[in-house]
Amino acid sequence: MVNRTDYLDKIEIDNKDNLSDSTVLIRAFDDMSNGFVNNSLVNGSTILFRNASEMIKTNTKYSYGTHGTPTTNDLCAAISMLERSNETIITCSGLMALTISFLCILKPGDHALAVDFVYYPLKRFCKLFLTRFNIHVDFFDPRNEYSLKTLFRTNTKLVHLESPCSNTFEIIDIYAICKYIKQRSNKCIISMDNSWATPLIYKPITQGVDISICALTKYPAGCSDVIIGSISTTKELSLTFNNVRGLIGTTSNGYNCLLILKSLKTTTIRLYYHHNSVIKINTYLNLSCHVDYVFSPLQLRSPDHQLWKRDYKLSNGLISFILKKNSLENCKKFLNNLKIFGLGWSWGGYKSLAAIADIKHRHFKTNNGPIIRLQIGFEDINDLINDLESSFQHLN
Ligand SMILES: *Cc1c(COP(=O)(O)O)cnc(C)c1O
Repeated sequence: MVNRTDYLDKIEIDNKDNLSDSTVLIRAFDDMSNGFVNNSLVNGSTILFRNASEMIKTNTKYSYGTHGTPTTNDLCAAISMLERSNETIITCSGLMALTISFLCILKPGDHALAVDFVYYPLKRFCKLFLTRFNIHVDFFDPRNEYSLKTLFRTNTKLVHLESPCSNTFEIIDIYAICKYIKQRSNKCIISMDNSWATPLIYKPITQGVDISICALTKYPAGCSDVIIGSISTTKELSLTFNNVRGLIGTTSNGYNCLLILKSLKTTTIRLYYHHNSVIKINTYLNLSCHVDYVFSPLQLRSPDHQLWKRDYKLSNGLISFILKKNSLENCKKFLNNLKIFGLGWSWGGYKSLAAIADIKHRHFKTNNGPIIRLQIGFEDINDLINDLESSFQHLN
């Protein structure tokens, strides 16, 4: 497939290794054969061969749509360049990127560990699907470093990390945890869900992670109009993942890939805007007499603030909080009175959204009762704050 080096090969500039990602992303795909700025769209299943001998060759560049098209390969190259991975494969959703990674690494009898505050559908997959194959997954507490250390077994083949964690945004010291795991076992593979940060902000593979996964559906898509995921791996794992990709037949269509390629060029500037809006919403929520606690690594008093500053420096548009008079009834009332925030799952788009986050599945509880999660989009910040304020007033 295509990796970062192939990507940089497209640029005829000296010292291109020093170019920043945003420059490479914009410069590398200039198509000077026809002069258009954007990537071209190839949608296709069948590829025509000139003759029968060409047809039965196994090393042709293109053989069938599932094995890659110019457009899907362009996206794989872009993500590999950003992740600093050897290779990237595209999946039909972010969830499928997670589940395929587990299926790729684990065999019957194996043990795996995942962070307890993980994206919930993955936990469901572990409990309802992997158990059929005698694969057992334990969940460790991200707030207690001994939790992973005591749960680690001699047959632990995979440790799955997600940082910041879903809904409450606890940050894991990825570098330190990877170092510990690799010392403890040279057979254990480390995967990480990098959807919160996107590979534009954080590059897990440079910190010791073997498999970096991104729900491109979120900030890379940016417009809530595509479902798609990516798995990026180190050189050692490329062949394994490529084989499984062929066996399972995962891909996405050219149009979806093109939408991501287009939106990737503006992801960083969108994240800056989200970041600045979240700072204002954080200040507002902390001053509100209706709010008990705010979850965001941006705030100075967050136990994750130092790690966030070291590893991320930028926030996305997510922030969660607990109501002072917390109950499911009050959360529902608060959501029902919002006029500008939409009620909807997912995040990463231009629209501000509110949801009641489900944390009932967690073994290690951070708090009792429901949490309200906000995705701060691109509406005017004062209109958003007024919307929250008038909804809080209905709680009295
Ligand atoms: C949304 C999400 C996913 C799944 O992405 P889809 O494309 O919606 O399947 C995976 N991980 C995290 C952390 C997510 O928030």
